[in-house]
Amino acid sequence: MNRVGLLILIFQLIVAPLLGSPVRVGRISDNLSLNDLARRFNLKVIWLEKDKKVLLKNAQNSLSFEVNKRDFELNDTTVYLGKPVCHIPGSLVISKKDFEKTIKPLLSLDSFTPPPKLHRIVIDPGHGGKDVGAISKQLRMYEKDLTLDIARRLKKLLEEKGYNVLMTRNFDKNIDCEDRCKWANQEKADLLVSIHINSVSQSLSREIQGVESYILTPESQPSTGFKTLTLADKIKNIGNAYDTWNAVLGYDVQNSLHKRTNAQDRGLKRMRLRVLKDLRCPGILVECGFMSHPVEGRLLMSPDYKQKLADAISQGISAYHRHLARPIR
Ligand SMILES: [Zn+2]
Repeated sequence: MNRVGLLILIFQLIVAPLLGSPVRVGRISDNLSLNDLARRFNLKVIWLEKDKKVLLKNAQNSLSFEVNKRDFELNDTTVYLGKPVCHIPGSLVISKKDFEKTIKPLLSLDSFTPPPKLHRIVIDPGHGGKDVGAISKQLRMYEKDLTLDIARRLKKLLEEKGYNVLMTRNFDKNIDCEDRCKWANQEKADLLVSIHINSVSQSLSREIQGVESYILTPESQPSTGFKTLTLADKIKNIGNAYDTWNAVLGYDVQNSLHKRTNAQDRGLKRMRLRVLKDLRCPGILVECGFMSHPVEGRLLMSPDYKQKLADAISQGISAYHRHLARPIR
């Protein structure tokens, strides 16, 4: 047992029961200290707040973690983990699964299997037909129309870059989420990007805005916003074969999206979505903003902003493509 392992054991057996701590660190073998992570990737450990907030930094990357938080920041983009960051004397720890499924792919793809090819991209404009998605009565706007508009712009941009681009729908038609996924598999897509717009109830509409992206939750991890495992979390989905590449794709798109639009960064999140779980290629669902927000809602109506969103997604896909060829961030 190494020194960190011993410290975790002491913490779990002696300190945590005394504190009545609500934080479950888990088994020693399930965790990795951020000091070890720093050593592995040549990162300097800088405590911003003793035992609470830490920055791991080198010339290329900066990662910031905070105790009890489930998200961390990689180069100013928020990424959600399956478990919260915990504290042990002298270090913060994360789960090994979060290291393997999220952090390692984002820092170095060196040790992974050969990357998938990227030529055929399926764009999925969310909702359609009688499924209108979110509604803004004030702006007289349906989510289904916005998603199709952004998707058409994205198609053009990706085609200009030489990709072969297909759309699950190019008109106002209702398609089941699982059928969208099946169709992308039939068409042998190398990547699927599903476009959506968010909305919240009137009482929260002034507070909540920004962009977020979703990728498939790895097996035996809870999705973002869920604390415990459900039965569905214990099943390995077909799409989980692409966990590594999903992490890279998700990060690159979310990073580009919030930086190029200046929208609030709500992070890269995990969800077992029907449009993603049986996908035989990497896939992402992008929430391009909140139509319920008084300012962001109006922005989403503007052709310039829709173009900006499409451009940001397209640039994110290009960054992902570059990472497939050159796997060190
Ligand atoms: Zn939607």
